[in-house]
Formats: sequence, C-alpha cells, structure tokens
Amino acid sequence: MTTPGRYPEAIVSMPRSGIRVVMDLAWELGDVLHLEVGEPDFPTPDPVVEAAVAAARGGFTKYTPNTGILPLREALVDKLARVNGITTTPDRIIVTLGAVAALACTFLAAVPTGCDVLLPDPGWPNYAMQLHLMDARPIYYPLRTENGFEPDLDELAALLTPRTRALLVNSPSNPIGSVWRPDTVRAIVEFALRHDLVLISDEVYERIVFEGEHVSPATFAPPDAPIVSVYSFSKTYAMTGWRVGYAVAPPPLNEMIARLQEPTVSCGCSISQAAALAALVLDPRVVEAMVSAYRERRDVAYAVLSGRGVRAFRSQGAFYMWIDISRGGRGSYDFARSLIAQTRVAVAPGAAFGPGSDGWIRISLANSLEAIETGCTRIADFLGR
Ligand code: PLP
Repeated sequence: MTTPGRYPEAIVSMPRSGIRVVMDLAWELGDVLHLEVGEPDFPTPDPVVEAAVAAARGGFTKYTPNTGILPLREALVDKLARVNGITTTPDRIIVTLGAVAALACTFLAAVPTGCDVLLPDPGWPNYAMQLHLMDARPIYYPLRTENGFEPDLDELAALLTPRTRALLVNSPSNPIGSVWRPDTVRAIVEFALRHDLVLISDEVYERIVFEGEHVSPATFAPPDAPIVSVYSFSKTYAMTGWRVGYAVAPPPLNEMIARLQEPTVSCGCSISQAAALAALVLDPRVVEAMVSAYRERRDVAYAVLSGRGVRAFRSQGAFYMWIDISRGGRGSYDFARSLIAQTRVAVAPGAAFGPGSDGWIRISLANSLEAIETGCTRIADFLGR
C-alpha cells in the first residue's frame, strides 16, 4: 500500500491489464495452453537478425537522432507510398520504441489534460492505461456485432462533448480481428475532420489481413489533416522484442511527438533500427508465409467453434478470434479463471478490452494448429457444460 498523496495518484490507481491477470495465473498453474498472449510465435526472420548482428559488430551502437536514423525514415517514406498509399516526407516520421510509445507520445502531443478521447470498445487496453496516466478521459464507442463490428456514426456523434479532442481507430482490430470496409474508413475520416478531432489510426496489424483490404485513413484526407498513423515492426515481422514502431504525422503534431523523444527515451535503439531497415527489404514471401499460417489457424479455430455451436467472429485480420461466451451467463473474468482452472486453457477476458465487452473472450492465433484445435475444443466443451 502507498501512503495517499506520496506518489502520483494516476500511477497508483492505474488498473492492470486484465490479460496480465490471466497470464500470471497461467504461469502459476503451469502446463497451460497459452491462447491469451498477443505476439507472433514465429522467430524474427534471419536476414533481420543478421543485419542487427552486423550493426552491433560494426560499431553502430551509439545514440541516433531523436526521430530515428534518416535511411530508415527514407525507407519508410517509400514503404508508406507503396503499401499504404500515403505520400509523406522523412520529417513527418518519428521512429519510436514500438507502436506503444508512438501512441503514448501521440496522446501526450494531441490531448490536453482533462480532455476526452474516443476509444473503441472492445479495444487494446493500453490506450485507456495511457490516457489514465495523463488525466485524459477514455470515452468508449461500441463496436457491435450487429454492425459487423464497425462504428455507428450517430452513436459516435452522440458521445461528443466540447472536451472531445481525439478519436482512435484500430483496423485490423485487436481483439476482434475485424477489418473495416474502405467506405467505413472514409466516413470515419470525414467525421473526425468535420468535428475537428485528431484522428489516431493504430495500424499495427496492417499486413495481417485474410479477407477484405486494409485501407489507411490518411489516404482519404489532405496531407496536412490532423491524422496520426501508427505502425509497428512487431507484428508484421515477428519483432516484438526489438521495439520498433513509428508515427506519421503532419505539422505541428510531428514536431510535438518528436520533441517528446529527448526527455523520455532520447531515441530508439540503433541496432533495432538497422534490423528494421533489413525487414523493409525482406522477400515478401516471408511475411506472406506467416499470414497464411495465421489464416489456416483462423480456419481451424472457426471450424471447431462453429461446428460445436459456439458463436465467434470469423477474423478477417490480425491474429485473434473473438468468441461469444454470453450464453454461459457469467462474466468474462470469472469465465477465464474457471476455464484455466478446469481445462488449462488461458484466454483473454473480454472485459479487459472495454466495459461493454464482458460477454466475450479473445483467443490468440499465435500458437500451433494443435494447440488452437485442442484449446477451442476445450472452450466449446466448457461452454456446453
Ligand atoms: N496496438 C495494438 C492494437 C496492439 O495489439 C499492440 C501490441 O499488442 C500495439 C499497438 C503495440 O505494439 P508494439 O509492439 O509495436 O509496441
């Protein structure tokens, strides 16, 4: 216990991620099928590792510019044009310690204390944790199954207040695995611009798409519109531990995000930036092979669950499956705790992703086909009891 007032209240009172709660339980029990963890199970591709080794041996071990090395930002300009259809310049790109740092700095740069940010429910729990630390308020907009897990603009409009400063979107989505249709993305961009909001687009799963097409919101707006697009090397290239992400933002947001680097981290890791450069020129088949593996696992998970009458969203992207547990009539934390205790399958409780998501759980497809098949069978058995 901390003495009240002795340490910053925002940190003392920050809720833990609900996924961590299950992970701790899983480690305690041992012998558990880990379907709760959201990181690729593939090793980082060899050419990337080799580039890092060469960089370290070659003495590329010093501080880099605050916003990242220029060759990487130049290569990212090319990637953004090629993959995302975004025309930009190196000074608008800030290389960060993973997308998580890009998002934290974007919130800090764009959202004054006491303002509101619209977040998806369900959505990645770290957004709310970050806002909590800076005394900004998350306002959740629901992604409902009956709308194909896409936002309803009237509902969004009803949530606006004079304090609403930003709107966060995340497609392909963690935890749902939905990929928003291009028309929806365009409508969201128009909505944000009409209401003078900063649009923050978390696109870390941009390359993991099974159906549909990932469209970057920034392609629907003029280059100086207040849109911050956030990307990562973590998921696409199985590089979670290397900590390389980046934000793309117009002035003045780019300068504000860049300014935050010096007092917080100085710069990203030099060796990881050399590795990231190598990732950008990898044979595309390396990424395609990982995406096909996730797709195959998605198919198996969906076949097992739907074959047993369990309702789940057939993911269109990312590497998750969002499973309806509401018929069991118990909350998702209670469900996850009992499931792990009785069947040794760890899943992420829906309530960890937003206040309206308690009737769901998320499983990760970043595990072997066998583990996914066994895990889904046990979930279906458990729900049927
Ligand atoms: N955004 C979403 C939706 C995520 O799921 C994650 C990681 O799980 C991140 C951002 C952060 O990724 P990074 O490893 O680049 O910090």
